[in-house]
Amino acid sequence: MSIQVFGLPVSRGVAIGRAVLVASSRVDVAHYFVDPASVPDEITRLRHARDVVVNEIDALKHELPTDAPPELDALLDVHLMLLRDEVLADATKQWVLERHYNAEWAVTAQTEVLARQFDEMEDDYLRERKADIEQVAERLLRALSRAEPNLAARSSGVRDFGGEDPLVLVANDIAPADMLQFKGSVFTGFVTDVGGRTSHTAIVARSMDIPAVVGAREASRLIRQDDWLIIDGDAGVVLINPSPIVLEEYRFRQRQSELERARLDRLRHTPSVTLDGEAIELHANIELPGDAAHALEAGAVGVGLFRTEFLFMNRGADLPDEDEQFEAYRSAVQAMHGLPVTIRTVDIGADKPLDRMSINELRHEHVLNPALGLRAIRWSLSEPAMFRQQLRAILRASAYGKVRILVPMVAHRTEVRLITDALTRAREQLQDSGQPFTPVELGAMIEVPAAAMMTSWLLRHFDFVSIGTNDLIQYTLAIDRADETVAHLYDSWHPAVLRLIQEVIEASRLAAKPVSICGEMAGDVAFTELLLAMGLRSFSMHPAQISAVKQRILRSDTQKLRRMLDAATQSEQPALAWRQELQHAGIRPAGLPV
Ligand code: PEP
Ligand code: MG
Repeated sequence: MSIQVFGLPVSRGVAIGRAVLVASSRVDVAHYFVDPASVPDEITRLRHARDVVVNEIDALKHELPTDAPPELDALLDVHLMLLRDEVLADATKQWVLERHYNAEWAVTAQTEVLARQFDEMEDDYLRERKADIEQVAERLLRALSRAEPNLAARSSGVRDFGGEDPLVLVANDIAPADMLQFKGSVFTGFVTDVGGRTSHTAIVARSMDIPAVVGAREASRLIRQDDWLIIDGDAGVVLINPSPIVLEEYRFRQRQSELERARLDRLRHTPSVTLDGEAIELHANIELPGDAAHALEAGAVGVGLFRTEFLFMNRGADLPDEDEQFEAYRSAVQAMHGLPVTIRTVDIGADKPLDRMSINELRHEHVLNPALGLRAIRWSLSEPAMFRQQLRAILRASAYGKVRILVPMVAHRTEVRLITDALTRAREQLQDSGQPFTPVELGAMIEVPAAAMMTSWLLRHFDFVSIGTNDLIQYTLAIDRADETVAHLYDSWHPAVLRLIQEVIEASRLAAKPVSICGEMAGDVAFTELLLAMGLRSFSMHPAQISAVKQRILRSDTQKLRRMLDAATQSEQPALAWRQELQHAGIRPAGLPV
């Protein structure tokens, strides 16, 4: 019987493929594919690293004091032997040759394979040799990290190596920026042990539009390299080495969901208007400038959220300067051909640290409450020169199309003043240097309950607001969005959450200023009618979600929905009450509440 692992569904559909484990290691390493032409160079990197480690160990052996215990010398001999042994050296090389993994990834992949083999050994002495393999691997990884990285060798990960089987990515945990580099790569599915539904790694997985499950606790321990896996992104289940009958059943479901997608695709360029004639704006969330083209293809009428922090992550001290940022923003703006692009200032912090760090590592960093700490606008305001630099880069991009600025996590009066002062100063600086820019609207994200309750006040200072439901839910319910151990309490249907959203929409209507939702709720079809009933007319989501949301909009009558609203928002169980209301009105609810 196949093993099943349960987790949280984050991205719909079924993926079937062979497991590729991105093993976690004690040394922070990047995982990426190298392009075929660079495979020999990557193997040279591996060989150099091995020579360096052999020399290190040789030197250690020579420096051992005469009274050192003989076991120490023997241990170093074991390490030297492992370095020369083909199960490590040759097999590691094979990962680079056959799969085009970068050298560091190849080392961790082979270490994982060997560690498991040692785990299964009966003999205690041999079983303990696993630690030696891990120590040798750690030395190799450190040697690689000191050597020149071969970044030019990075490939987009489009399949350019042998083997026809589809591949699915399995990791204990993976940082959002690392996940992003697999966008558009060979992977057709994704599973991690940790993370919540709206953790940033999950959000990036969703933007890749491949079936994904997170928080599947034991997955990376139970799954082995090359196991056959089914990832059921609807139910949040992973099946390891399924039987042929189960496989056939899922292949059927996979075909069904592909047909459904193709059907929805036909709506891409249909205007998004309700039955009673209300035009609803559907915008896209993007992470990189290149995503703008997908947004356009998916029928988005603009970019509602450009998460610019991804340009800053994993860059070490080499953060993008004003010109590099300007090029990135301009490229997104030009790709949208005059449609609005809402550029959010960096939202660094919490589960999006500047340098590569996964959730597990963050948990061990002893930053007590990263989600409540120096993140988003707080971080930007602590680096005023960098903040102004980003504002200037965004303003400069406004000379090439319609640009809006969005500020994450605003809540305080002092922040509002500092933001508007910084923007005024950035404009002055551009004027002084004769750089062109056009009028740009300034928006605030509503992500903290304090801001939600003060929307009308915020709208005296901002031109629009956009509700970041991912954080709004986290901060309203005091549930870390990246923590799978409390994921069952991360409840988008909580009456307090719905009440806050309704208040923000209402306050914006009274202030006659635009309001949008750019959190994951906007792309979740289970909420489409409810948000329409609340008066929302602008949604921003992953491009792949646009058609499904549009389909529900096309079948909706906002007048009718509005009359049903109280029954849901006054209920202690809004999910259930709303479902019943929809059913009474003859509308089929979308899936189960999540
Ligand atoms: C949100 O919090 O809902 C949001 C859109 O921002 P992010 O997910 O990047 O925190
Ligand atoms: Mg947010």
